[in-house]
Amino acid sequence: MAEHPLSLSPADWEVRARSRRLPAWRGRQIYAALHAQRIETWEQAAHLPAGLRRELSGEWPVIAPEVEHAYASTDGTVRYLLRLADGAEIEAVYLPLEEFEAGGRRRARRHTFCISSQAGCAVGCRFCLTAQLGLERNLAAGEIVAQVYLLLRRHGLHPGAGGDRLNLVYMGMGEPLLNYAAVMASAGRLTEAGGLELPPRRMTLSTAGIVDKIRQLGGESPRPRLAISLHASTDELRERLVPLHRGQGGLEALLRAAREYPLAPRERLTFEYVLLGGVNDSLQDARRLARLLAGMRAKVNLIPWNAGPGLAFEAPPPERVREFQAQLNAGGLPAWIRHPRGQDIYAACGQLARAAAPGGIAASGDRPLPAAATAIPAQPLRDTL
Ligand code: SF4
Repeated sequence: MAEHPLSLSPADWEVRARSRRLPAWRGRQIYAALHAQRIETWEQAAHLPAGLRRELSGEWPVIAPEVEHAYASTDGTVRYLLRLADGAEIEAVYLPLEEFEAGGRRRARRHTFCISSQAGCAVGCRFCLTAQLGLERNLAAGEIVAQVYLLLRRHGLHPGAGGDRLNLVYMGMGEPLLNYAAVMASAGRLTEAGGLELPPRRMTLSTAGIVDKIRQLGGESPRPRLAISLHASTDELRERLVPLHRGQGGLEALLRAAREYPLAPRERLTFEYVLLGGVNDSLQDARRLARLLAGMRAKVNLIPWNAGPGLAFEAPPPERVREFQAQLNAGGLPAWIRHPRGQDIYAACGQLARAAAPGGIAASGDRPLPAAATAIPAQPLRDTL
């Protein structure tokens, strides 16, 4: 497959311009059309000569993914099912945060985009719907960047000085560190001067624990912040929940890499812990977790499990989640409960699997987003682990 146009850096575009016997500045103009103007079609790059636009659209007919479906949640979350140039389907999620009244209209002030790095996923976490798809393919850097630009357009956002505040999380479909080069190239495109110029501290990458890549990531600049999806406090349980754990050297190797990870002065590592009722949510689990992470500059995000069809787990009761959190805090570990977003449209953590849901809105429709979805009834689930 040809390189995606949004994958290419300013220097790449200069080289490509020269190879067409064009001046280097023409290459920089093309880059600006893609990353500053954020065109969806070459016709929108009106400042480029018509002949060049024709050539570019012959070589790269598709810049933006097609929105196949969008699902709007009662809480403002929107899940997008996107079709890529070769027909592969991925999902990206928009989450508005901190709403306030502006001129009588509710408006979100902070926004989080959850984007995919792969179509499907090879890791196979037992509690995750995406795992059931298996890995279809890696995304190109440009296909990752294109998700961000699409969500910016769909929600009319303009991040930057005095504008909307955007956080980006590589937590959609896929294991980002198993598509390392493309993910790092996408972070480069999104942070570099002349494009979106997103501050690297506004990006977080979540990994199931690819130890050698965690070490490699620590040496990168710019790099997203790191979140490690831990989910268990013993090797035995983690091997059952996250099958790749065994081949990574166990908790000892993973936590050694975490302890040795070079943090910026105000940076903390994040550990994510999906709470599965009766599986990993006991106070003994919490005490063990606090001991494992003792002394690290880290915080824990507790994620009560989000139900998915065909998955035999259950979410812990809210009081158990609070007790677990209190136990971690008592062990000196800051812990936060992540309240589910977009659960009713299968947009919450571990739910991205292209499932149909109520709340669908017209794929081509733009704002304002229509009335919210009706909730999907909870599935009767049992823990069979
Ligand atoms: S939780 Fe993440 S790493 Fe695990 S299977 Fe799902 S998408 Fe892959």
